Amino acid sequence: MKLFEYTAKEVFQEYEIPTPRGRVATSPKEAEDIARELDCPAVLKVQVLAGGRGKAGGVQFADDPQEARAVAAELLSMQIHGHEVERVLVEEKLDIDQEIYLGMTIDPGDRCPILIASSRGGVSIEEVPDRYIVRERIPMQWGLYPYQMRAVAERMELAGKLARDFGNIAIALYRLFRDRDAELTEINPLVVSGDRMLAADARLNVDEDSEFRHELPVTERLSEVEERVAEIGLSYVQLDGDVAVLANGAGATMATMDILQQYDSDAMNFLDVGGGADVDSMTEALRVLADTEPRVLLVNIFGGITRCDDVAEAVLRVKREGTFRSPLVVRLIGTNEEQGIQLLEEEGITALRNLEDAARAAAQTAASDGAEEE
Ligand code: GDP
Ligand code: MN
Repeated sequence: MKLFEYTAKEVFQEYEIPTPRGRVATSPKEAEDIARELDCPAVLKVQVLAGGRGKAGGVQFADDPQEARAVAAELLSMQIHGHEVERVLVEEKLDIDQEIYLGMTIDPGDRCPILIASSRGGVSIEEVPDRYIVRERIPMQWGLYPYQMRAVAERMELAGKLARDFGNIAIALYRLFRDRDAELTEINPLVVSGDRMLAADARLNVDEDSEFRHELPVTERLSEVEERVAEIGLSYVQLDGDVAVLANGAGATMATMDILQQYDSDAMNFLDVGGGADVDSMTEALRVLADTEPRVLLVNIFGGITRCDDVAEAVLRVKREGTFRSPLVVRLIGTNEEQGIQLLEEEGITALRNLEDAARAAAQTAASDGAEEE
């Protein structure tokens, strides 16, 4: 489960990790009031559970309370990577001397927590060459010690007070990581501003299976689509491309999206019907995806326990209801594929057997549809 930045920062404060002054706002007026309280230039940041907000225009500055109000109004009407903005964090704007990256996660290869850090943090961390990335294993039975952090700081070319502050923050962050059953925590950027070092951003994902032993933080409300999918007990993820994907199994679903990307197309969302979904739940899954009004809906079923003729039946039901407004591309293979393909063809729907053909067809349809609209 992902926490919002402002909630993650509240947890950081409990562990004495310094964060900028500020609070979360749900209206432009509130943002204006907070900016007035801060009494200095402010930074306003959309609170959505997606990264890369800066690059998507979700981080903006305001020199005075009036401007903060206007900026908040703009941010609150935005969609960032498909997420509606309901809250904006208003904080003191920092003068940044340096942006550091500090993250912790579990390394599945080493089977232990790992600290990852770089002196070159900020919005382009993904592009930082590997030689500037420092990794330090944290043996679970011992934890993270100051001597390790002195070595890490040296490799990052941090010295003196900076190195000490950095070490203290990392040790506090590891304590938090363990106490809160985190899967991932990240400070990017950890800002050096004059003689201060503070977490300008905060990411904290906790293991859902440990929720019972923690107080539940506020998390993002389910969208209408997510609620409908939750009712039929399937998994759905909203993305920001053009193609709605219905597939069965996590691996097949990921592979479908990878192949779409090879044809320069991205998924708008995906719904994994898993193994052995019945006709009713597949029908509802298709209705839900049709209602998201994608440029094209791609169904990719590898029939094992799931039977291709059941899939065809679900497709035909939804088609008869007149639910599809988007073009449809179907790929069926596996158990009862002949029957499934025949059922669809009788109703004039072509089903492909090859995933690449299907992905190419979907990508082409999405692109041509887009060209018409522009
Ligand atoms: P993200 O893009 O979702 O990771 O959002 P961040 O909160 O990390 O902000 C993105 C970028 O905005 C940071 O890397 C900074 O360069 C810039 N930024 C954020 N807060 C401040 C601030 O207080 N002062 C200044 N000067 N820049 C900031
Ligand atoms: Mn960030």
